[in-house]
Amino acid sequence: MTNSRERHYVVVVCPKCRVQSQIVEDTGQKTVRCQNCGANLRFRKLRQFHNSTDLQEAILARTKLQASISGEGANTISPTIEVEDSKIKERTEDKARPKKPVELILSKIPPEETVSHADLKSHTELLGIGEEKLEATLQKMLESGHIYEPKSGFYRRA
Ligand SMILES: [Zn+2]
Repeated sequence: MTNSRERHYVVVVCPKCRVQSQIVEDTGQKTVRCQNCGANLRFRKLRQFHNSTDLQEAILARTKLQASISGEGANTISPTIEVEDSKIKERTEDKARPKKPVELILSKIPPEETVSHADLKSHTELLGIGEEKLEATLQKMLESGHIYEPKSGFYRRA
């Protein structure tokens, strides 16, 4: 029985700079080059923090390891999984509570405050409405008296 054909992914930390963790496919190589400091490391001497035939598993292990090395984590973590997560969240939130554009825009105009058109525009992505929708809804809100324009390009709750 031999597993020599199976791919093994090993997660290692560079012992020279100690800030770089990387996934190395074990192909029987003698040395590994640190992607951060460029040191040539003896592969067989390196501590294997994770050893898996599953690349996804190795990526997860490396992500966790890198986060604990760098302390702040976020900027060095591969974003794939987090991106997926937030996408799922947005979708479920959207389904659970569809808000009307009027409500969404009002939520960005606090009572007793004047909000500029540019401000509102910068929120459109966050609100999940397009620019056109924003313009149309603002117009409607002005007409219906939800809001008024104390000066051109600025809005307040009526
Ligand atoms: Zn290094």
